[in-house]
Amino acid sequence: MDKIEHIGIAVKSIEKSNALFAALFGKAHYKVEEVESEGVKTSFFDVGPNKIELLEATNPESPIAKFIEKKGEGIHHIAFAVKDIKAEIARLKGEGFIVLNSEPKLGADNKLVAFLHPKSTNGVLIELCEERS
Ligand code: ZN
Repeated sequence: MDKIEHIGIAVKSIEKSNALFAALFGKAHYKVEEVESEGVKTSFFDVGPNKIELLEATNPESPIAKFIEKKGEGIHHIAFAVKDIKAEIARLKGEGFIVLNSEPKLGADNKLVAFLHPKSTNGVLIELCEERS
């Protein structure tokens, strides 16, 4: 696994939070992207070598809506860059981690992604992401 690619933060309103985090970082987000299959709208900020991803639910069944209902706004996941996501999924399964996506899926920001169940990672939802060339 390589660097932390981004940290995902669940928010109620992307619009309000874009303004808040722009004030915090001193620069605006560089993109907003909806991931229909996940029921989320995302926005991304460049912060040095890492990114911050804001996530807003687009429907009540969205995992982000459920997360906010249970825990409120806050850190939702940590994403790590990997070079070969399929090899990494196989390696982590071998180590006994619960991988939620046996096949990587298309995520935001032109990435192939897979998640590890927080049950197997001390309560932290971990995302693997591979840059698509
Ligand atoms: Zn993410």
